[in-house]
Amino acid sequence: MRLLIVEDDPLIADSLHQGLAPLGNTVEVFTSLKETRAALAHSQFDLVVLDLGLPDGSGLSLLAEIRERRDTTPIMILTARDGVAERVKGLDLGADDYLTKPFSLPELQARVRALLRRSQQRIDNHLRFGPLCFDPASGNATLFGEHLDLPPRELGLIEGLLLYAGRIAPREHLINRLFGFGEAGPNALEVYVSRLRKRLQGSGLRIRTLRGLGYRLEDDPE
Ligand code: CA
Repeated sequence: MRLLIVEDDPLIADSLHQGLAPLGNTVEVFTSLKETRAALAHSQFDLVVLDLGLPDGSGLSLLAEIRERRDTTPIMILTARDGVAERVKGLDLGADDYLTKPFSLPELQARVRALLRRSQQRIDNHLRFGPLCFDPASGNATLFGEHLDLPPRELGLIEGLLLYAGRIAPREHLINRLFGFGEAGPNALEVYVSRLRKRLQGSGLRIRTLRGLGYRLEDDPE
């Protein structure tokens, strides 16, 4: 998963990073509203952990902006123990959950897992479609229960497709997931899609190209 942390206190940012990176996540940390707006304009994330007291304004205004553009990315706000009023305001503005500081790492991890499950309508921590399964925590993929020994970008593609299983995985989302902010060649994504297609041959699954939009993992009627 790609997680975005917005926190200006370096010690707290560090502990958030240490708590979330080992769960198999790519974690990016920003310390101001300005940086975060720029990152959100270029990239999609699976979850945002948002501190409210930031040097250039309140996280609540960023939260409001995100929801105003109908972006439903799960957002967990970080509040002070006695910050009942801002917690209520945050939840009313569209935050999905909150964590009070100081927090315990196991609680942070469990709440993040729960939010991701809920947002992706899953009942456990695995992503599945038909016989294909991906465990974001370990980065392992299986097909009919058999371990798939794949390079990281093919695993990233499986994860990206499974996050949208049965729906269109937007092209930009997949490019972001596989190549990050780095420049990817025009056909880089197609190369990985065609490799994965070969591996899925005979599995009853196929990756359909929706020109200009993205790709959809779906049942193969053949
Ligand atoms: Ca702060």
